Amino acid sequence: RVTIGVLALQGSFREHMALLSKIEGVTAVEVRTKEELAGVAGLVIPGGESTTMAHIAERWGLIPELQAFAKQGRPIWGTCAGMIFLAERAEGQKKGGQSLLGGLDVCVSRNFFGAQVNSFEAQLPAPAELRSLGGAGTFRAVFIRAPAVVEVGGGVEVLAEYELTEAEAQKAGGRARVAVAVRGGPLLATAFHPELTSDLRWHQLFVEMVRREAAQRQQQQDEAERQ
Ligand code: GLN
Repeated sequence: RVTIGVLALQGSFREHMALLSKIEGVTAVEVRTKEELAGVAGLVIPGGESTTMAHIAERWGLIPELQAFAKQGRPIWGTCAGMIFLAERAEGQKKGGQSLLGGLDVCVSRNFFGAQVNSFEAQLPAPAELRSLGGAGTFRAVFIRAPAVVEVGGGVEVLAEYELTEAEAQKAGGRARVAVAVRGGPLLATAFHPELTSDLRWHQLFVEMVRREAAQRQQQQDEAERQ
């Protein structure tokens, strides 16, 4: 079995717990303390409000622990506010916990699509990683005051893009699309909320990343012990 944590300080952590619990071989745990973090092989940072979440993490003394977890190369998946935590850079609005963890070589724009009232859903083409898990060729993406990735560094793959409407494009200085799902090494980030849909595939994709990393880690340990 693999144990996956969901940072449970604020935001949509219950929804992530519910979806992860549906995947065979996964034990999902809520993470609020250093001890809980130490017991997980991968971590989901949910959507919510990144500034608030950062403040709570700080107050609970979790920031150095989260940074150490990331530094070890453990897989982390940030959705929405969680994406902001993982981004190396942010543009536009105030920082909102950005670079709290960093490590993902992208620039995000917070609240890219506007205010809460501009929350929306879109049916987007599923990347090969998702299609290989079966199901539809598209997936439902729920955007709630979502960030967008406006610059992608080397070594970061774009898994999903969103084509801007004419009005959005105009506001964004004429760009045609933004990245809304990216992966760089052990870090996965999505601007939308797969935990608010019944499509398990993004969660399955992350579980695969965690399993692979855990197996590699085990192998390295075994080798070190043999020497
Ligand atoms: N706009 C929020 C922020 O900047 C993120 C919204 C979300 O996670 N649904 O933190």
